[in-house]
Amino acid sequence: MYLAELQFKVIADTDFTSAESAIRRYIETLIFNGQVLGREFPTAWQQDSFNSRIVLPDEQALQQKHHSDKGLDALQQLAPAGLAYPQVHILGMDLMSQHTDPCHSADFYILYSRFNDTCSPVRCGEHFAPVPLYLLNTEAADHEKLIRWQLQYQALDEIQMQQTRVLVKSAERSLQQLNSRLNKQGRQLARQLERANNTAVYYALYSGSSNNCEKEPDKPCPGCGGNWRLKQPLQQLFDFKCDNCRLLGNIAWDCQSPS
Ligand SMILES: [Zn+2]
Ligand SMILES: [Zn+2]
Repeated sequence: MYLAELQFKVIADTDFTSAESAIRRYIETLIFNGQVLGREFPTAWQQDSFNSRIVLPDEQALQQKHHSDKGLDALQQLAPAGLAYPQVHILGMDLMSQHTDPCHSADFYILYSRFNDTCSPVRCGEHFAPVPLYLLNTEAADHEKLIRWQLQYQALDEIQMQQTRVLVKSAERSLQQLNSRLNKQGRQLARQLERANNTAVYYALYSGSSNNCEKEPDKPCPGCGGNWRLKQPLQQLFDFKCDNCRLLGNIAWDCQSPS
């Protein structure tokens, strides 16, 4: 990932409110299309320009050919707010976030997220590296639904990772139960992505605790009840894979002996 600065030069009379809302609108369209990562974009007003700090999945991420229609429209709305088209300055590699997947097309994808990710929730099946969403087809106008799903997933994961947890069980249930609203939504989004890209998309079903650790390594697929245990773990993370249900799973973390 790359740390970058977007510079919006002031080209006509403007006021802070209209400049701020035009910039916010533009950058949010980039976020919901996977061209900008994370939710924060600190912005400073420096004499004749506004400068926003952003994280990009790739150096080319902001090329107009990757914009959604909403992004192109928001770009046109900068001029009426007194701002020029933005200039991108790449500041360097972001050391805090994952590296983007090198594949042009993957054999399969994995929908996966954790609380501390700053990256796309879609991973390459081979490298487990994040795939920028703007490079994937979607049935919708952009990837907003997937990004909003990821935000909720990360928020719940954050809650159940804390030492002194509030809402422990309800957060864990949302992440762990196949038919929680969160997982239903995620699996539906995975199916849509699979259709739009003609590539299998597996949903990574989180497993934190179990009430029977003895049976945990042989638990059946929660979708079809079949045997889904892998001989070799995938990406050192997944012990289970069901091709019919497009599910990946792990032996509950609480049941794994620390090595
Ligand atoms: Zn890859
Ligand atoms: Zn299954």
